[in-house]
Amino acid sequence: MIITFQSDALETQVESVVQEVERSGLRAFQRFSAGRWAVAAVSGGFGRARPGLGDRLAALPGVLTVQAEQQPFVLASRAFIPETSSFELGAVQVGSPDLLLIAGPCSVESRSQLIETALAVKEAGAHALRGGAFKPRTSPYSFQGLGEAGLELLSEARELCGLPVVTEVMTHEDVPFVARYADVLQIGARNMQNSPLLHAAGESQKPVLLKRGMSATIEEMLFAAEYILSHGNFRVMVCERGIRTFESLTRNTTDINAIPVVQSLSHLPVLLDPSHSTGSWEFVTAIARAGVAAGADGLIIEVHPHPEQALSDGAQSLKPERFAELVRQVRGIAAWMGRKC
Ligand code: PEP
Ligand code: MN
Repeated sequence: MIITFQSDALETQVESVVQEVERSGLRAFQRFSAGRWAVAAVSGGFGRARPGLGDRLAALPGVLTVQAEQQPFVLASRAFIPETSSFELGAVQVGSPDLLLIAGPCSVESRSQLIETALAVKEAGAHALRGGAFKPRTSPYSFQGLGEAGLELLSEARELCGLPVVTEVMTHEDVPFVARYADVLQIGARNMQNSPLLHAAGESQKPVLLKRGMSATIEEMLFAAEYILSHGNFRVMVCERGIRTFESLTRNTTDINAIPVVQSLSHLPVLLDPSHSTGSWEFVTAIARAGVAAGADGLIIEVHPHPEQALSDGAQSLKPERFAELVRQVRGIAAWMGRKC
């Protein structure tokens, strides 16, 4: 249930609604967006509110509308928060006219590989450094990441280049530990519906980059985001990273549709990962351009100084000079879209 308020409603009137919602056994979240307060009333997991709540709320002073949810995810919906949600990450305001550029290696492999990449992507215009220390690989015999040593290297790279760090966390037990190093917790495609992990990422109150599962619908991705939001952690970005289709000439199929569809349903910033969605470095720049033209709030791109030697995802990794060219091209489209980058 979403309760909206008149534009001149007092905070005490909002507070009365929150109390009435909580008395009825539901949880209440309040946000100010687009010039008005709104309260979202969600179930605590034990079913529905007592009957008559909607009528009681509608009669309270300051209340404009009481709506049943139009979408099954409430906190992620634009009906609750009409404006795209925005938060600071390093020098960028995510979800604003700023276009967020995250770049770096698929995996942290060594000090020299990471530092060289970090300095190069910073120089080219990236706003955040990516790099996996815990890698969810398809084969158990593939490189699984450096673990804590990789996190230490990411901290060192952040010190050196001044970019915030985005890194994947794979289990709920690891969240507090990875959160000590990361500026943004990445939840990967393979873990999109891992509910203990989503709960833990929500509890951490760290920004989260949630990637779409390779066979997940857009709605399922927004439900996964809802888990994180339900802990009061609203610093969440969702990321289209390609879905499984019958096409075999690319690793995945970029669902460009997901960008405007997410934006129509949800206030969450939406990023595109053309590295995983194509699987081949030759196609990454073209699809990055398409994503920005479709309105993406940011890009996440894999970059490696020597892709042929990469321990993971070399085939889709751009050399630093190619990343610099991608940034030049994307800036032109961003400017045309009225965005800064
Ligand atoms: C990655 O970002 O390196 C990664 C493993 O991505 P995904 O979860 O989208 O496959
Ligand atoms: Mn990768």
